[in-house]
Amino acid sequence: MALIVQKYGGTSVGSPERIKNVVRRVAKYNALGHQIIVVVSAMSGETNRLIGLAKEMQAQPDPRELDMVVSTGEQVTVGLVSMGLMQEGLKAKSYTGAQVKIITDSAFTKARILSIDEQNIRADLANGYVVVVAGFQGIDKEGNITTLGRGGSDTTGVAIAAALHADECQIYTDVDGVYTTDPRVVPEARRLKTITFEEMLEMASLGSKVLQIRAVEFAGKYKVKLRVLSSFEEEGDGTLITFEEDEKMEQAIISGIAFNRDEAKITVRGVPDKPGIAYQILGPISEANVDVDMIIQNVGVDGSTDFSFTVHRNEFDKAMDILKNQVQNHIGARNVVGDNKTAKVSVVGVGMRSHVGIASKMFRTLAEEGINIQMISTSEIKISVVIDEKYLELAVRVLHKAFDLDLDQEPA
Ligand code: ASP
Ligand code: MG
Repeated sequence: MALIVQKYGGTSVGSPERIKNVVRRVAKYNALGHQIIVVVSAMSGETNRLIGLAKEMQAQPDPRELDMVVSTGEQVTVGLVSMGLMQEGLKAKSYTGAQVKIITDSAFTKARILSIDEQNIRADLANGYVVVVAGFQGIDKEGNITTLGRGGSDTTGVAIAAALHADECQIYTDVDGVYTTDPRVVPEARRLKTITFEEMLEMASLGSKVLQIRAVEFAGKYKVKLRVLSSFEEEGDGTLITFEEDEKMEQAIISGIAFNRDEAKITVRGVPDKPGIAYQILGPISEANVDVDMIIQNVGVDGSTDFSFTVHRNEFDKAMDILKNQVQNHIGARNVVGDNKTAKVSVVGVGMRSHVGIASKMFRTLAEEGINIQMISTSEIKISVVIDEKYLELAVRVLHKAFDLDLDQEPA
């Protein structure tokens, strides 16, 4: 007998029919003798609808009140799922985040979970109930309803699995697992049977939207066994997110190609090569709450150098404005230039730790297609390049092939 958390996304509970599918799967696991906690999102489209209503009342909805409104989406689905389970003859009980006592900080619309009271859930499970918990929401210490950010039900699922030391957290979604890259760009992309937690973290932060990044962080911190599966298929093992140390098999060197179209590049030219300059450039940028991704500073020549970094495309104008009006003259830079038609492509794999030549293979592959690399950044398990947006798809395709990701790598 195992304790399993099953998290279902919005499309998986998008209609009464689909909720009945969920119910059937839960009943099947229950019949095998497992204890099940179900965590659900709002029905698909519902959170957007609620945000739309809020915006009709207030152009910038008050964050506390917005959480009050959007948290109702999940409250509907937990009740419906419980009813469905009862209709199948199971014992079931629904909880909102507040009823469980999922305590969060008070950062409305992007709250972080601080603690989970597992007492009631444990007692219900012991009494044979399937427990159905609303994703995406919690309550702060003052009793205000909070939400965890878009896609936050993933994080609820993982956090509950961590709090109750569940044997597995299964994330049911509309894709059947994590792929080597986006199949819409590379039809040959394969589902990965396993991916390490660190690779998943890189993939999620680099734009693969299968899991909320906070959920992956949580899983890593508490060593939650996490699996991504399709809720529309009866069979299939999905993708298991593993921890390197329990990996017995030889890992593929590269697990995937991630990409992000929303990158914009900014260069401050001719800045004096002296202490404090990076801070004087990036200080005002971070004060304006603009996230900076890659950062490169050139080797200085004759006392001056160039300083480049990337930001999200939506924040390009804001960042350019700050640099031109507040920074350029202040630090005595020659000029500020930018390009918001860039994209980032990354190869990700823990195998990079033990294999040399990955970077040169990546650069050669791009060179053979005449794709110019504008910026490079690396971590222990990732190499990212910034390129002209118009070559993005080509770059992803040729890299996917060059690293043999279209070949089945499972041992025979
Ligand atoms: N319903 C919320 C959203 O649409 C949370 C979730 O689905 O995970 O973002
Ligand atoms: Mg989701």
